[in-house]
Amino acid sequence: MRLRPASRQRSPAPPGAGPPARRRPPRVFAGYVVDLDGTVYLGDEPLPGAVETLARIRDAGSRLVFLTNNPLRSAASYAERLREFSVQAEEREVVTPLAVLTGYLKEHHRGAAVLTVAEPLVDQSLAAAGIEVTSEPSAADVVVVSFDRTFDYTKLLRAFRAVHKHGAVIVATNPDPFCPTPDGGLPDCAAVLAAVEACTGARAEAVLGKPGPQMAAEVRARLGVPGAEATMVGDRILTDVAMSRALGMTSVLVLSGATTERDLAGSAVQPDYVIDGIADLLPGPPPQPRPVREPQPARPREPQ
Ligand SMILES: [Mg+2]
Repeated sequence: MRLRPASRQRSPAPPGAGPPARRRPPRVFAGYVVDLDGTVYLGDEPLPGAVETLARIRDAGSRLVFLTNNPLRSAASYAERLREFSVQAEEREVVTPLAVLTGYLKEHHRGAAVLTVAEPLVDQSLAAAGIEVTSEPSAADVVVVSFDRTFDYTKLLRAFRAVHKHGAVIVATNPDPFCPTPDGGLPDCAAVLAAVEACTGARAEAVLGKPGPQMAAEVRARLGVPGAEATMVGDRILTDVAMSRALGMTSVLVLSGATTERDLAGSAVQPDYVIDGIADLLPGPPPQPRPVREPQPARPREPQ
């Protein structure tokens, strides 16, 4: 008989009760869904123990899916970045909002013309999936809003006209208010969406990415492991922990990214486990750092 995580049997801690003590999951799971920003790395550096912990998960034979709400890179680019950190990763193991977006548009708005408030990668991804992209508000059926570091008044005006005057619907890539970075973070998709919603009075018909049902379905399909046999580790309560609940997975919150102890103490949603960082994800002593970028000295072969 498998024991259920304790927090599923108890009520959430009341506000002011203080954060739960750090507690690492006591077992190795068959599947791991691992958030990237704030969990595996922050900015251009892997977080302590990330490389070693992910290697141990592979060595244990568990399945891995990497997950991000950040639409600024393709899945192939994320996999390449992970490999630069010496983390084994394949493109098919990385789920980003871009794959979810193209799938959503094909299912719900087949043949629609899409106007984007986004960086060029979003337009390129849509075009590559055979979806028409337009910059003409009167031609747009859907306005896609994304994390956009090139956001300006012209883009807002086009989106406003497409929605307010021509009746386009809004679809957003992800719900994050900001993206954590070492120097204090970047305004993310929710900030751009707020601007479009404020001027149009409309609301997005779908906000993709974690913790939404579209992203959850994509993760479930890619992981191929029942929810009860899997855990999801991430740095945000309202996306990572919330989605692990939706998938029936054990939730592990790391405090190495967007969530502080104070945030956690005030949250009605509590994770099953809280750890300082991904180095504490597996049972046993924390992994020892090793010089992963340097070649290992060759060992003499054992006699056959
Ligand atoms: Mg994160």
